[in-house]
Amino acid sequence: MLWTPLLWLLACGGEENPTSDGSDGTPGSSDTTDASAATGTAGASTAPSPTTTTTTTTSDDPGITTSSATSSGDGSSSGGTTGGRTCEGELPAHWIDGVDCGSEPQVQVHAYDPDTWILRQSLCTSFEGPFMMLLFGSERALLLDTGDGGIPIADVVHGLVEDWSQAHGGAQIELIVANTHAHGDHTAGNDAFVGHASTTIVGVGEAAVREFFGIADWPDEIVPYDLGGRVLDIVPLPGHEKAHIAVFDRATGVVFTGDTLYPGRLYIADFPAYVASIGRLVDHLAGHEVCRVLGAHIEMTNTPGDDFEFMQPSHPNEHPLELDLTHLLELRDAVEAMAEPMIEVHDDFIVYPL
Ligand SMILES: [Zn+2]
Repeated sequence: MLWTPLLWLLACGGEENPTSDGSDGTPGSSDTTDASAATGTAGASTAPSPTTTTTTTTSDDPGITTSSATSSGDGSSSGGTTGGRTCEGELPAHWIDGVDCGSEPQVQVHAYDPDTWILRQSLCTSFEGPFMMLLFGSERALLLDTGDGGIPIADVVHGLVEDWSQAHGGAQIELIVANTHAHGDHTAGNDAFVGHASTTIVGVGEAAVREFFGIADWPDEIVPYDLGGRVLDIVPLPGHEKAHIAVFDRATGVVFTGDTLYPGRLYIADFPAYVASIGRLVDHLAGHEVCRVLGAHIEMTNTPGDDFEFMQPSHPNEHPLELDLTHLLELRDAVEAMAEPMIEVHDDFIVYPL
């Protein structure tokens, strides 16, 4: 998410262009394929964010790594069994956070479970530090978001696809490249997949998303999308951005909410659409067991209600990525109660109408 009101005005013209960076302050965006090389550090700048933190910690993720979880969590109180379902996937004890750009990789690759991967772009390459998801079914894999550019995203993903294929008897699967929404910090890597075999790139923007997933009645129609023995529900979620979707994975019980809900500033461009979208998602999930809610950024610290400064190049003591259904319900209640759009700070997210 990102997009201060000022940046929104300056940069949103590129929001449906998959080649548009869509962000700024992102140095070192060379197309290096040296996965172990960290690029430069973005400079801090002033921001609308009211708070900042100065505590520090260290990173211990040198090199691009394909690491399995060694911990079931990181001390977070979220996740767990909220929604009536035990989470089987595991989250890492630590995400790369930009604190040590000399040692952290450009992309952290985490195995949530054998068929689910969570990737994080280093804050050393983009202050956005977006997360990307790779979900495997028996017939195809879905890559949800491609990052903010300046990282070897295609190499990383193709390596994971190859590994998965080898682990499944050389099975050939199609790679679907899609986006939670059209902003550049989620789509900048799309073009890196152009021209690759067995790859389909879903266009950005509402029309392309509707056409690919077969959504006739946007935004009210929720459609299934089968990866092969793994059905996802595609939920139209305009509000932050008009082509935004949520993806509910019935297999894991995880809801991927992109920039609509994550531990940070929830920038809302179209408030009525956003309120309706949150209600739509909550209503849909009422019929399912929800394990976790995973968004696409972290902008909160571990201190309740405290967010990092906008464009802050490192995130010491980050809030965990994972939220749960209680946060989604808290968000719904908050926005539905607002007589008019207003900034409202909660412990784990900030409602931030533009
Ligand atoms: Zn974003």
